[in-house]
Amino acid sequence: MIVVLAKDATIHDKEVIHIYLKDRGFTVRDQHFGDDEIIGAFGKGVIDKKELVLLPGVERVASTSKPYELASRETKSEDTIVSLGPVKIGGSRISVIAGPCAVESREQIMETAAVIRESGAVMLRGGAFKPRTSPYAFQGLGMKGLEYLKEAGVTYGMPIVSEVVSPELADAMNDLTDMFQIGARNMQNFELLKKVGSLGKAVLLKRGPSATIEEWLLSAEYLLASGTKDVVLCERGIRTFETYTRNTLDISAIPVVKKLSHLPVIVDPSHAVGIRAKVSPAALAAIAAGADGLTVEVHPHPDAALSDGPQSLYPDQFEKLMRDVEALSPVVGKELLRTPRPSVSLTEHSGETASSENDSITDAAGYSGDSGAFAEQAIIRSFGEDMPRLSLPSFPSIFDAVLDGTVRFGMIPVENSLTGSIHENYDLFIRYPDIVIVGEIKLRIVHCLIADEKADINSIKIIRSHPQGFAQCKEFLDAHPDWQLESVNSTSSAVVSIVRDGAVKVAAIASEAAAKIHGLAVLKTGIETNPLNYTRFVIISRLNESGKAALPPNLSSEKMNKASFIFSVHDEPGALFECLKVLSERGINLSKLESRPIPGQPWRYMFYADVGISNDDTVFEESLEALKKKCDDFRLLGIYHAAM
Ligand code: PEP
Ligand code: MN
Repeated sequence: MIVVLAKDATIHDKEVIHIYLKDRGFTVRDQHFGDDEIIGAFGKGVIDKKELVLLPGVERVASTSKPYELASRETKSEDTIVSLGPVKIGGSRISVIAGPCAVESREQIMETAAVIRESGAVMLRGGAFKPRTSPYAFQGLGMKGLEYLKEAGVTYGMPIVSEVVSPELADAMNDLTDMFQIGARNMQNFELLKKVGSLGKAVLLKRGPSATIEEWLLSAEYLLASGTKDVVLCERGIRTFETYTRNTLDISAIPVVKKLSHLPVIVDPSHAVGIRAKVSPAALAAIAAGADGLTVEVHPHPDAALSDGPQSLYPDQFEKLMRDVEALSPVVGKELLRTPRPSVSLTEHSGETASSENDSITDAAGYSGDSGAFAEQAIIRSFGEDMPRLSLPSFPSIFDAVLDGTVRFGMIPVENSLTGSIHENYDLFIRYPDIVIVGEIKLRIVHCLIADEKADINSIKIIRSHPQGFAQCKEFLDAHPDWQLESVNSTSSAVVSIVRDGAVKVAAIASEAAAKIHGLAVLKTGIETNPLNYTRFVIISRLNESGKAALPPNLSSEKMNKASFIFSVHDEPGALFECLKVLSERGINLSKLESRPIPGQPWRYMFYADVGISNDDTVFEESLEALKKKCDDFRLLGIYHAAM
């Protein structure tokens, strides 16, 4: 049972509550949980809850139907997000930890860190103290190994995680490790859990090979009850009668635990399957099932590994896995987490990171619509939950806000996979020559029919949404020809209008997030015509006096792999062909070409083009120069990093 204290509870109030609980057979412990100060009451005491709630200083008493309380979603409904500097685990991102089973030498861990970082891992793993089944197997390099791991993590900008095997070692490791790993064999070593929890640091808690889900969550409870609030659960396979794989990956544990607990759940496919060729399929299955991330064993030379070589991925296999995870993440409504890498020279990019610009612009991102808009979700995916977000009434007002410095960034939808380009926004780039594209994100769009909870689908007469919402749900709407459609500025504004008017005959087409935020019910989900419904958003920013624009921090060290530009050509045969020849002769891949009328010049057109940038930047720059010579007008909209 948990007693949540009122914000104004005094020390005296707390003492009275302690005495009350102890007198009735509980052991008590003071804790912080999120922003709340709480008293955990453990044991088999008996109380009258109504009496306890009336004591001064008590805000509320939470008791769950589960034997674990702090770990339970009944106690805390929102997802816990564990932060380790720029790395966040949980919420709407996929965070990938990688590294060797064991740190074997300084060279080995440095080499591994370099390759996994390059492929997009955000944390480095490696055992320094190895709990091996055989006493004759390699036991790890001990503290020296942890020092090497730390050095590699610092060099490549990754927090580290390493297994702690005894309470005595926890103190010794505390200064070096960023996150403790509790290994599967130690999941129920309660003295170890209490000691590690009391250090207050983030913990990766592996599931024991024979542990039930409830036992696993009770072990998490030990950690939380001892003082840490940052626990990440890790499913790593359990023992079954099957012996073909090393363990059996319990995929269904992922959605089960995510429902029972607010803690992030990641998966270790390496120890689960134990066979290199099966690691990536299991990893992708875990992401599809809702895991918040992975921890994967990677070794630069697995055949020479001192432990777990047969299940360690080669660097190129890991790179392929990361590309697949990046492509899969939007399908489950998430984004692969990227964090800025150190020692990347800014001269490699056309811009500079947001924080390096010391001016009066507000570090916030603007979007069109109300809270719950798809563009707001795109901001959260790109910048994280902590990014201040400004709701604005229209697309032009985002360009204005970026231009006058009200916000540093804007999130603009430019294309939908079902309905095509959003021309209004392409055209705005022409009106705002100082605004450029600095990043791109693709978001899977799942539309819901949303209404007051008293409404049902048969009472609905009017549907409100953005015209894009109508277009993307055309088949669903065609099946209800009697519904009247009302266009509004954004899908989320449609939801807000229903709350404001208290209408039961009106439904909105918008995101599930919008329904949740504004307290409405989802009558039907997944009403878009095709589930492969993605919107491409671009992040915009303003050029400063030196012709540079701020880059989103998470993209600042990513390779620029895409460029967008607008051009127009002479009105003569072969003019467009000549321009495209410039690109084709230099092996530049044109991924999109679209023509638009030039305002005020009937029957004259300009072209919007997106191209991929391969490894050779000089070829790209040279081709832009050549292209400019062939065009009447040419405007570069941005050179940026586009996620897959
Ligand atoms: C490990 O991650 O290196 C390890 C030993 O895993 P587990 O405790 O899951 O066996
Ligand atoms: Mn291992």
